[in-house]
Amino acid sequence: MSADGARPHVLILGGTTEARRLAEALAGDPAYRVTTSLAGRVAAPVLPPGETRIGGFGGPEGLAAWITAHRVTHLADATHPFAERMSFNAAEAAALTGVPLVALRRPGWSPGPGDDWRFAGSLAEAAALLPDLGGRAFLTTGRMGLHAFAHLADTWFLVRSVDPPAAPVPPRLEVLLARGPFTLDDERELLARHRVDVLVTKDSGGSATAPKLTAAREAGIPVLVVRRPPVPAGVPEAGSVRAALDRLRAAD
Ligand code: NAP
Repeated sequence: MSADGARPHVLILGGTTEARRLAEALAGDPAYRVTTSLAGRVAAPVLPPGETRIGGFGGPEGLAAWITAHRVTHLADATHPFAERMSFNAAEAAALTGVPLVALRRPGWSPGPGDDWRFAGSLAEAAALLPDLGGRAFLTTGRMGLHAFAHLADTWFLVRSVDPPAAPVPPRLEVLLARGPFTLDDERELLARHRVDVLVTKDSGGSATAPKLTAAREAGIPVLVVRRPPVPAGVPEAGSVRAALDRLRAAD
């Protein structure tokens, strides 16, 4: 499957820890050329090894054109489970070019004993449910989705993000600029210091941001969990970097 006798070229659609781990594994293998693509949302991203490119492609057609121009032989969608548009674009571009695609998705979280979790199908639904659950919310759904909560004038929000959020944002808002991972002690201290009485999160999965869930359980506060959008139909999923590597190699 190599392109004109050259090394196989894997394009990783990135922006996650798993994408970086996949790039590290492939960049350490001289048999592969690897390029990671980032959306450019974070001002100073941690760049993975291998080649990188930053910014949108211009929809599925733009991605397909990039794949063809750069002789990409394998596509790995390792974007965040909530980057729905990009995952759709990846599926479309794979269909247009015939390049094999794997979606790398870390497993979601599940509640355990002592957890008080409520579920929402979208950020808008979470905003509708929130006022009945608490008045001081730790909102960890990302700075890009804050607009969904902007109309909630009676709720106080604590938001933590790498870069400052842009308007529209809720009127009663405190922003904490920080980059994870965060420890359980960090999260316990944060919930107590700000007298948080409800946590809002996407079902992102992974260990880097999971301590907030433990801290919420210990503090006896409810967690409002936004469910993941589905992976596009027909796209094979890998639940770990190892499984994604196996799939990519099997498509050689
Ligand atoms: P999105 O809504 O699915 O995508 C919007 C547009 O951004 C896409 O149509 C594409 O533009 C561009 N884009 C997205 N990911 C890209 C990538 N890896 N490389 C090049 N262009 C990309 O995405 P999003 O939810 O805003 O997420 C943007 C990035 O942040 C992703 O890389 C994702 O992994 C990361 N991230 C997202 C979340 C989250 O909760 N959504 C959390 C953590 C990290 P074109 O159509 O012009 O190609």
